[in-house]
Amino acid sequence: MKSTMMRTPLNLSHFLERAGRLFGGQEIVSRMPDKSLHRYTYADFYRRARLLAEALTRAGLQPGDRVATLMWNHYAHFETYFGVIAAGGVLHTLNLRLSPQDIAYIANHAGDRFLIVDDVLLPLLEQFRDEVDFERVIVVPLNGKPVADGMDDYEAFLGTATGDFDYPEMDENDPCAMCYTSGTTGRPKGVVYSHRSQVLHSLVQAMPDAIGISGHDVLLPVVPMFHANAWGVPYTAAMLGVKMVFPGPHLHPDDLLPLLESEKVTLSCGVPTIWLPMAQMIAANPGKWKLQKGLRLTVGGAAVPESMIRAYAQLDIEVLQGWGMTETSPLATLSRITAQQRHLDADARFKVQAMQGYPLPLVDVRGIGDEGEVPWDGKSVGEIQVHGPWITGNYHGVPVSEESFSADGWLRTGDVASIDELGFMKISDRTKDLIKSGGEWISSVDLENAIMGHPSVQEAAVIAVPHPKWSERPLAVIVLKAGQKVGEDEIREYLGKHFVKWMVPDAYAFVESIPRTSTGKFLKTALREQFREWKWDD
Ligand code: ADP
Repeated sequence: MKSTMMRTPLNLSHFLERAGRLFGGQEIVSRMPDKSLHRYTYADFYRRARLLAEALTRAGLQPGDRVATLMWNHYAHFETYFGVIAAGGVLHTLNLRLSPQDIAYIANHAGDRFLIVDDVLLPLLEQFRDEVDFERVIVVPLNGKPVADGMDDYEAFLGTATGDFDYPEMDENDPCAMCYTSGTTGRPKGVVYSHRSQVLHSLVQAMPDAIGISGHDVLLPVVPMFHANAWGVPYTAAMLGVKMVFPGPHLHPDDLLPLLESEKVTLSCGVPTIWLPMAQMIAANPGKWKLQKGLRLTVGGAAVPESMIRAYAQLDIEVLQGWGMTETSPLATLSRITAQQRHLDADARFKVQAMQGYPLPLVDVRGIGDEGEVPWDGKSVGEIQVHGPWITGNYHGVPVSEESFSADGWLRTGDVASIDELGFMKISDRTKDLIKSGGEWISSVDLENAIMGHPSVQEAAVIAVPHPKWSERPLAVIVLKAGQKVGEDEIREYLGKHFVKWMVPDAYAFVESIPRTSTGKFLKTALREQFREWKWDD
């Protein structure tokens, strides 16, 4: 039987068209750098995203060309999410937390042709502009000042379009967006998303048994739009016409809480670092902020402490933990209580919510131990491998390697976990030698190499240590050369020349020797065990 359904490609431009036709009156609110609120509607967003698509096409954008963004979360970034892809381009969100050198490397590696940048981020761009050959730099004038010569004003650029735009033909497997993520060794690696992957991810993400996103929600994405597509929620929001509230550069609870209150936010998402202090602030000021009844927080990017889930439950706010990676679009598993667990008492439910959760439809997970696949018994641990239509099958411009993919094509995540009888994953360790601080990666290897470049240092190992605010912070374990006397302040200052500030370790341990494996590598498991209880200053 050959004749079945229509072969309509899954295409994100359909979400844009749908948003414009069906949800024109819905609001989009953005906090600007000066803290004022910018308001417009989906009708404006639709019109401007299409103008951007047309203007880019007139400027010579060819299908598959990369358009980089260096932007905070706000309406114009949302426009690029759809305007670039509607033109057949690939939206490449640059991570503004990285060092200028890394950003330049990533932009060059991706072959970015155009850059759209917030005016408030021009000082960052200046630090690497000479290293990247952007054909055009288009500046979003958030603070209303004129744009300097040699760059385009975003508003004027939109003005070059006439409103006469036709979507180019697209295959559902065509690329639409890309993001880079840290590699354990070597430089950052690019993940390329397809229309198909993001449409399917949106559909599943919105399901009631997944995040449960509805057109009735008011959604505030704290997770940056430069990190794993803000977990894909901008696409899902446009699909459903969700009222969006973008926080701009203001991510402190002092700024977020009034916004959650005034815009009647029902759903927000971000890493634990954002939510931990907020719970304390709400509890310490009862009644100060009138948050929406039924407010939900989707939290991931790092393990969500059970204590945090309990603290929010006390405040009548639901915390939903998700797990995933840039490589997995990113949502792959979610810890929502299932029907089979409905008999559990409150304590047992909190334990379940503190796990990384069970796979979403269309995603397969397995744990691989020394003897092959581990049983789903909640005890045996193995490296988690994943497979599915929104899991990357390779990295941009890098040959597929055994380090990243299994022989049968599953993605090796570098996370070590058990899986229970119901498919719930619990992460216990990581094979990848990286530190995740406040949701962003720090390379242990880069820090070690830099510290070992100091003339007084014999050797150094950098490990991740649990931290109450940042989830993890780096700790440098250092062996000095005989007779040398160097304090941590000097090492910190030395590293400050090579790394952005937040990547420089706050914690240092000077030791006689570093334990090694039989093959001579640093035995990091032993070090992590030794320093697990590190006492952080308040
Ligand atoms: P994201 O921050 O969007 O999850 P990244 O690619 O930066 O994407 O990081 C992915 C990694 O973050 C995972 O492989 C895992 O190590 C860690 N991670 C993500 N979510 C969780 C979670 N809920 N619990 C523990 N670790 C997590």
